[in-house]
Amino acid sequence: MAFGFAQAFKTFGKLTLAGAIGASLAAGDVGAEQKTPSPGSAKGQFGAVGLPTQGPAQPIGFYAKGCMTGAVALPADGPTWEAMRLSRNRRWGNPAMISLLERLSQDGVKYAGWPGLLVGDIAQPRGGPMFNGHASHQIGLDADVWFTPMPARRMTAKEREDLPFTTMLQKDKFLTVDPNVWTQSRARLLMLAASYPEVERIFVNPAIKKKMCDTWTGDRTNLGKLRPEYGHDSHFHIRIKCPAGAAGCTPQAPVAAGDGCDKSLAWWFTPAPWAAPKPPKPGAKPPKPPREMMVSDLPKACAAVLDAASVASMQAATYGGPSAASALTAAPVAEPAADPDEALPDVGPVPNDKPAIQ
Ligand SMILES: [Zn+2]
Repeated sequence: MAFGFAQAFKTFGKLTLAGAIGASLAAGDVGAEQKTPSPGSAKGQFGAVGLPTQGPAQPIGFYAKGCMTGAVALPADGPTWEAMRLSRNRRWGNPAMISLLERLSQDGVKYAGWPGLLVGDIAQPRGGPMFNGHASHQIGLDADVWFTPMPARRMTAKEREDLPFTTMLQKDKFLTVDPNVWTQSRARLLMLAASYPEVERIFVNPAIKKKMCDTWTGDRTNLGKLRPEYGHDSHFHIRIKCPAGAAGCTPQAPVAAGDGCDKSLAWWFTPAPWAAPKPPKPGAKPPKPPREMMVSDLPKACAAVLDAASVASMQAATYGGPSAASALTAAPVAEPAADPDEALPDVGPVPNDKPAIQ
């Protein structure tokens, strides 16, 4: 792949700081709280609802413009995962997304030497736009997973609020993965996630995509699902396809063929993605700030979703049933023995042993 990364580094090395700032500003999880939304704004309305609707799970609309019915919650704890930032109330999703996270957490232990997932934002109880942090995550088919491994103990709710994000990037270099932080087990976890047929895209920082392009020696069939994006240096973002039969779900175009280790990646290492917006021409009207998304901008059905009856409780709508929602009794799986990177083979495609998602 001779498309001039080395040259890009030489030429644009001075953009180190800009790159670092761009990455942190765009980090999906850490957006600052915004001022109170105006009446009728979609994020105000959907952010104020505490529980999902009753009835079957349906994604409605598009990942970045929609809502959902019948969401289920990822239990705060499982043997191989812990949900983070519980106060946000964003561990709701389509059952297909929640079951995939549970499966990835188990397969990660088995195949990737990864002791368990710390799961970040999935979606609000009825999806929709959020006050902060994400453009997508609106229809229950997107989820963020930390690049930090689950500790071998249950964190308290406060620890889950306070645990800082750990970037995978070197702070003093332009778009470079920190070799002291990055591990082969992280690479394996990404490729494991990409191996599931229902996973359509996984967003990672461009530096992480480049690292994968440069170093992944296993099967590269699914490498193209890893998509370079701003931020995503301390977590990755899994997006699954519209589940079969979800008539109201607007699909996204499939990723292009190939591993994506090409010009589309090289672009991120040019000044273009990091350039400041051009100043307006003298005398020109300043551009209008982008309009807040209103409920009326979403698919029509989303207004009714806001008004629909709630499930009885979070426990009642927790994936796996109320018992899964109660305090966890099983101990977390132990961290793998020292040097797990050396102990496991590269991950190939993992057979999908569950029936197609409903
Ligand atoms: Zn995300």
